[in-house]
Amino acid sequence: MLVVYSGKAKDVTLLEDNKVRITFRDSISAFDGVKIEDLKEKGKINCRTSTILFELLNRYGFATHYLSNLNETEMICRKVEIRPVEIVCRNVTAGSFCKRYGVDKGIEFETPIIEFFLKDDVLHDPLVAKEIAIQLGWVTKEESALMESTTRAVNQVLSVIFERISLKLVDFKLEFGRTDGGELLIADEISADTMRLWEKETGEIKDKDRYRKDLGGVIEHYKDILQRLEEIESHPEIPIKSTAEITIELKKSVLDPAGEVTLRSLQRKGYQGVEEVRIGKSAKISFSLTPSPNLQEIIKEISDSILSNPLIENYTFDFSSGE
Ligand code: UDP
Repeated sequence: MLVVYSGKAKDVTLLEDNKVRITFRDSISAFDGVKIEDLKEKGKINCRTSTILFELLNRYGFATHYLSNLNETEMICRKVEIRPVEIVCRNVTAGSFCKRYGVDKGIEFETPIIEFFLKDDVLHDPLVAKEIAIQLGWVTKEESALMESTTRAVNQVLSVIFERISLKLVDFKLEFGRTDGGELLIADEISADTMRLWEKETGEIKDKDRYRKDLGGVIEHYKDILQRLEEIESHPEIPIKSTAEITIELKKSVLDPAGEVTLRSLQRKGYQGVEEVRIGKSAKISFSLTPSPNLQEIIKEISDSILSNPLIENYTFDFSSGE
């Protein structure tokens, strides 16, 4: 079978029917692969942790690449093309954030912070502004809105789950991939390698920072996280909300009588420099649903068929998620 991709800790093998097999190896790396070694059982632990967390996200209605678990170190996933940006969500300051802005670690954000990073080891995965990622074609506007709202909703779910097992979700990274059909799915892995988890009571580090900072006991702490996850029996109701804000405007070529009247009135009143007025409308629709490509399609359908008249109007929409 063809290994299509061999990364720092995983191999991806192409299967039939647009599926892949992801094999978790025992290697662990940090600092863009500068520090790398093998830790016995790590592949098994991360595969199991990822399996549990992807199954959890699927259960809460997220669109992920995960299909099934194959064995101790392998899972079967949908084939996707990984997008070149990764999304980091932070509840508390730590890691590169503290270095970049010169702030202490451990400051809790009132609203979780979302950051985009370009996936490029040579450039050391630089932080990128969303506008830059869109203009340089690394993500589309629609993708970036879905990535951000999905990541916020994942944070909502994972924070509650980890809280239940006495762990604080400090931050995490998500990767997204696109299927051949264009569907945007949460991909890669979700494990102690891709998030920061602190013991709730003591602040003890439980995640990959143990390896980065040579604290020792990496496998013991990874195993402890996994064991706690395995012990979760029921899944709490988590009220995930998605909101679409749709702005509808008349096409440039269509006359806008209300806009004309307003323009003349403004000019009469002496407002200087007013050149054109176009009057549009907006709609805000909230759903008690998880953000997903499917929901994004439904919003487009509603905008096309109910909120706007495609013959004379254009619309744009923004998509967000919050409690
Ligand atoms: N992260 C990751 N892969 C990366 C970069 C970051 O999984 O290539 C995770 C990291 O483990 C942490 C979060 O994303 O949970 C934020 O990482 P940060 O930007 O602070 O970078 P770091 O200090 O890990 O280099």
